[in-house]
Amino acid sequence: MNASVIAIANQKGGVGKTTTAANLGIGLAQEGKKVLLVDCDPQASLTISLGYAQPDQLPTTLSTYMVKALNDEAMPPGEGILHHPEGIDLLPASIDLASMELRLISAMSRETVLRKVLKPLKKQYDHILLDCMPSLALLTINSLTAADRVLIPVQPHYLSARGLEELAKSIDQVRRDINPKLKIDGILLTMMDNRTVYAREIASLMRESYGRKLKVFDTEIPHSVRAAEISAEGKSIFTHDPKGKVATAYRALTQEVMQIEKQRATRQAGLSR
Ligand code: ATP
Ligand code: MG
Repeated sequence: MNASVIAIANQKGGVGKTTTAANLGIGLAQEGKKVLLVDCDPQASLTISLGYAQPDQLPTTLSTYMVKALNDEAMPPGEGILHHPEGIDLLPASIDLASMELRLISAMSRETVLRKVLKPLKKQYDHILLDCMPSLALLTINSLTAADRVLIPVQPHYLSARGLEELAKSIDQVRRDINPKLKIDGILLTMMDNRTVYAREIASLMRESYGRKLKVFDTEIPHSVRAAEISAEGKSIFTHDPKGKVATAYRALTQEVMQIEKQRATRQAGLSR
């Protein structure tokens, strides 16, 4: 196996990154894929929302892995990786990750530490999903450097556009300097309230203005209190409300993500012939 690594990133807070990481991850697992989720946010929301309520008591987290990598030491295989009942693995985060930012600043190859952490893990999974923190700090640059693809959740608001430009700039820079193969899978519209004309208008505006440069996923994630409930339950939307509109949407997103992969593989095969 050689996992494709998907960073779920947007420096704007509260746009649905963590919810998307959990449900896309479990969606892929339901399609028979081996999936590792990596919590790259010191807030540890992904870890908590998957049911590990006290991340600061976990003996091994992403920061343990990163410290080892900084010291050029290997981790014992599988150490600290949690197995969620819905069939995914999780490399959790804790507040320890907050001090990593400072350590990275003075480190050699400070952008590539996470890539080094993921290298041995890539052999064991089909997909590795990185749940990024809401900033463009070094930890997020590490995620973009380790990733093959980026998925950008965006809420349909006027002010989202400016943030997207900044993100695109960082992605371009990472591509130019360290990770030329990085691809943007697309923009995912989240928390869509289809009852309001406003949300629909913004959504079509975004499709028009970005659609030419960037893919905007056909799937839109509807706003629903059901989705907000799951973070307290440690379950995915597929278990919490399997027939609801949010579960349906995340199933469709899973298909779209797999489709993109298939198209790229076909193109690649064509090129190498
Ligand atoms: P942060 O930037 O803080 O990491 P985030 O981008 O990871 O945030 P989430 O934590 O996934 O965003 O979502 C923000 C809040 O919105 C959470 O309380 C979550 O439960 C809620 N939420 C996520 N998706 C939906 C949805 N489709 N409908 C309603 N609420 C949602
Ligand atoms: Mg989050």
